[in-house]
Amino acid sequence: MAPGANGNGSAGPLAVSCRSGNAVLPGSAIGVLGSGQLGRMFAIAARRMGYRVHTFSPDEDTPTGQVADLEIQASYEDLDAVCKFASGVSVVTFEFENVPTETAAAAEKCAPVRPSGHILHTTQHRLREKTFLSQAGLPLTPFRRVCSLEQLAQAAQELQMPAILKTADFGYDGKGQYRIKSAEDFGEAWRAVGEREAVLEAFIDFEREISVVASRGIDGEFIHYGAVENQHLDGILDLSIAPGRVSESVAREAVEITRAVLEKLEVIGVLCVEFFVARDGQLLINELAPRPHNSGHFTFDANLTSQFEQQLRAVCLLPLGAVTQLAPAAMANLLGDIWAKGEPDWCSAIATPDVKLHLYGKLTPRAGRKMGHMTALAPTVEQALRDVKRARELLTGRSERPRL
Ligand code: AMP
Repeated sequence: MAPGANGNGSAGPLAVSCRSGNAVLPGSAIGVLGSGQLGRMFAIAARRMGYRVHTFSPDEDTPTGQVADLEIQASYEDLDAVCKFASGVSVVTFEFENVPTETAAAAEKCAPVRPSGHILHTTQHRLREKTFLSQAGLPLTPFRRVCSLEQLAQAAQELQMPAILKTADFGYDGKGQYRIKSAEDFGEAWRAVGEREAVLEAFIDFEREISVVASRGIDGEFIHYGAVENQHLDGILDLSIAPGRVSESVAREAVEITRAVLEKLEVIGVLCVEFFVARDGQLLINELAPRPHNSGHFTFDANLTSQFEQQLRAVCLLPLGAVTQLAPAAMANLLGDIWAKGEPDWCSAIATPDVKLHLYGKLTPRAGRKMGHMTALAPTVEQALRDVKRARELLTGRSERPRL
């Protein structure tokens, strides 16, 4: 792929001086709320550019903490500790959206938080997020708010079955979800979401799933990585393919919807929009993530500026970087399951030409837990997909479940 040929626009001349006198320059400390793999890859990008990184979470020896300058272990509810953490850095960002609203608000009193706490507040709750999207006139999966078993029955009648009941908050990777096929499932579904506020969504018989990871700078500059195709297994992202195999018009529309989301939320940072592509080509937003996203991990190896460096540049009020993709890419997640029969065969897997291995330093592999990923670059996406799947198979010596 020729440089710039992905049509994602350029970041403009990097010689441009920092757009704001408030830019956070290399050498400064950046605070990360959360301590998982997204924070780890952010910290790697930040340290490469000479920043210091402080991470805050209730855990220790974390994926982010292992590469940060400082790992602060405290509860998100300990607002004094949050304020002390924020006072020690020039800007605070976050790496997962289930940080409590009060925590972000406490940090905001002591340092700028980017993207701002109100974006976290909107996107960490499915109903608030869906209400925002529908008020903004953006296309999304039909849904109903459900607060009781009676409301569930009513909503299921309106949306028709099958449908998916999801908790309003703290849901990710298919957790807190229950698929309803008939009225017989109501009771179990309602218990499965903890008998509390939930969202019933129409089940979309999609053709495929795509996402757009994009970044917005302080002066409104917008840069994106194009439409990426995603395949899930058991509600967890399994494979991403970039560029996604969708028509140019679908890709263009997905990018325009994403631009509208970032503009309406006034994001300064990175945000991912996940979409269903319906069989008639219609795009429906599934959900938003106001941070780098698993479906953008390939950018670490495949793009001139990764989603993590882009987050750093945006939250530091620096010019955004060029997103030129060096080659078609495919990414495969590595879940704890691959340790089921002992240590995976790393040597065989990384002997595959053009395959890069990323491990997050998590100490305990559990089934369904994201432990790492691999990215393959190749002349075509089909080849990249074959290579990355083959490399993953070599880890365990098992072939993968066949897919349509
Ligand atoms: P979520 O955590 O809500 O993003 O859901 C995880 C995955 O479950 C999605 O990426 C889809 O593969 C599937 N899924 C979730 N909601 C729906 C829906 N309304 N219709 C069809 N599939 C869905």
